[in-house]
Amino acid sequence: MTVRVRFAPSPTGRLHVGNVYIALANWLFARKERGVFVLRFDDTDRERSTAEFAAGIEADLRWLGLVWDESARQSERDALYAAAVETLKANKRLYPCYETPEELDLKRKSQQQRHLPPVYDRAALALTEADRRRLEAEGRRPHWRFLLHREDVRWHDLARGPQHIDEASQSDPVLVRADGRYLYTLPSVVDDIDLRITHVIRGNDHVTNTAAQIQLFQALGATPPGFAHLPLLTDAKGEGLSKRLGSLSIAELRVSGIEAMAVASYLARLGTADAIEPKHDLDALAATFDLGKFGKASPKFDPAELTHLSARLLHGTAFEAVRDRLAALGLVAVDAALWQAARGNIGRLADLAEWVEVCYGKVAPTVDDAGFLQKAAPLLPPEPWGADSWADWTAQVKAQTGRKGRELFRPLRLALTGREHGPEMKDLLPLIGRAKATARLRGETA
Ligand code: GLU
Repeated sequence: MTVRVRFAPSPTGRLHVGNVYIALANWLFARKERGVFVLRFDDTDRERSTAEFAAGIEADLRWLGLVWDESARQSERDALYAAAVETLKANKRLYPCYETPEELDLKRKSQQQRHLPPVYDRAALALTEADRRRLEAEGRRPHWRFLLHREDVRWHDLARGPQHIDEASQSDPVLVRADGRYLYTLPSVVDDIDLRITHVIRGNDHVTNTAAQIQLFQALGATPPGFAHLPLLTDAKGEGLSKRLGSLSIAELRVSGIEAMAVASYLARLGTADAIEPKHDLDALAATFDLGKFGKASPKFDPAELTHLSARLLHGTAFEAVRDRLAALGLVAVDAALWQAARGNIGRLADLAEWVEVCYGKVAPTVDDAGFLQKAAPLLPPEPWGADSWADWTAQVKAQTGRKGRELFRPLRLALTGREHGPEMKDLLPLIGRAKATARLRGETA
């Protein structure tokens, strides 16, 4: 049996790290199991869903490398849902209800007063044909509820372990609204059946829906898929991420220069006991991915840890892997040698611009001790320069001036780069070259 999973966002906004946590889990699971990853747009909410958000979500997923094998849009699949409604009506598992929201609210309040659980009382089941005709003549349109079997529904959750929900404690869910629109549950289950989904991997905010969905699978003649409910990410204070998402949208992270593989490396391991470390491709993450490694506790998402991981990832990245992206950033001057020299000193790829200036552009030197620099300049060895030129030169300067350690190296670095810190001087010096080095040691901007 081929594993088939789906990531099912509603295109009512762009993806944020919490969504990607789920998307990635689906993708990695499919990859590991040599399965199929389906992108399903849950766009039944016609007012809030837009084509722009759908395109944005696709762009976010592509950027992360989470390419999909198949895709579907619920807005194009009404006929399937209508057919399922007919099946459920024929099997007496769907029944019309006429209560207004206000009436339902009153019922709940009176149940609360009597210390009863706020479960729908199924009053509509007692309506006769004549009652219905009268209500419809008053202008009421029915909404439709799924008649739950009042049983304890059990499943083995691949992330949470054995679960059970007593459906006697749940209201019969509304599947079709009075205006004819479908609520999430019906299209989701119908699509999971039609798309032959074998594993539903999603956030734990859907645990309570699962028992009713299992019954719905069965009512439609299907075997329920496996389920895995992952914990929802929180911020440092333990609060849900959904409230303040701006800076945690994938689009924002991308603009701020975070590496896509840093996002993936972080989110694939967050909430598991596995070490979070930079990985350069998704397959490396898929190899050790296991739904059973996720705990129930909500992992804390730490933007600073992501930033740090992103920098570490760059520090170990080969030039060939970034060449095209450097060009796209306008950093065409970066060659393999400059990359090798400076990659350990950048947080974002764009930070390389600074070291392009230092090596191939203009720098205003910081002159600490003009006399010392004047002595050092003529000792620069003749070109060509290589890995040993810095050591050869500074050995000469040391011998001639008697300086050593920080006293020797700091003024040279300040003059040659205009900066206190940076990549190893032995790597930078050959890139700066003799002409610029000589000028900078003289205090000239070059
Ligand atoms: N569109 C639903 C959501 O984003 C999908 C839930 C599911 O995976 O079943 O919550």
